[in-house]
Amino acid sequence: MTRKILIDIIKLRTAMIEDSKMVLPEAYFYPSINNNGLKTIRELAAFRFTCRKCEDAPCINVCPADALEKDENGVVVRYTNLCVSCKSCVTICPFGTMMTDFFKHHRNKDLLYDLNDEKEMEEFIMACPEGTATFTYEDESPDKNIYSLNEKVLIKDCLYITEKQ
Ligand code: SF4
Ligand code: SF4
Repeated sequence: MTRKILIDIIKLRTAMIEDSKMVLPEAYFYPSINNNGLKTIRELAAFRFTCRKCEDAPCINVCPADALEKDENGVVVRYTNLCVSCKSCVTICPFGTMMTDFFKHHRNKDLLYDLNDEKEMEEFIMACPEGTATFTYEDESPDKNIYSLNEKVLIKDCLYITEKQ
């Protein structure tokens, strides 16, 4: 059985609201879907699960750098080589999908964990706000709002179902 990380995005959002100055650890995992440049797990999860997938997406329309587009599944993708971190998309999104720290180009190496590495998985969990990231041997279970992001990462979030899904 594969040991996985379960990231509870619902708890994470609450923790960030309670402490707006919180510095969150970041994690990446390759190979992964939509991976152009260095993408954090939270950004991939937000676009895939939290995003309402607006038909005429305001975030894409407002982006001055043409850095956002939808992939073949309707999931918004941010091209890190084009993004200028203006955060216009964060401001205009009516659903608060994105967290402003997705757009930091400067990354603190001490807060960045590679989830392909078992030891770094453990360190990532220790660095996350309490209860927001845990180890699990479970699989995806939509009845508990738990979805698979990749083979090692499960995301807990309130999935917004669109007609395309
Ligand atoms: S505006 Fe927000 S909810 Fe709509 S597609 Fe963009 S990120 Fe998703
Ligand atoms: S933060 Fe990046 S992706 Fe968002 S609107 Fe600005 S340039 Fe576009």
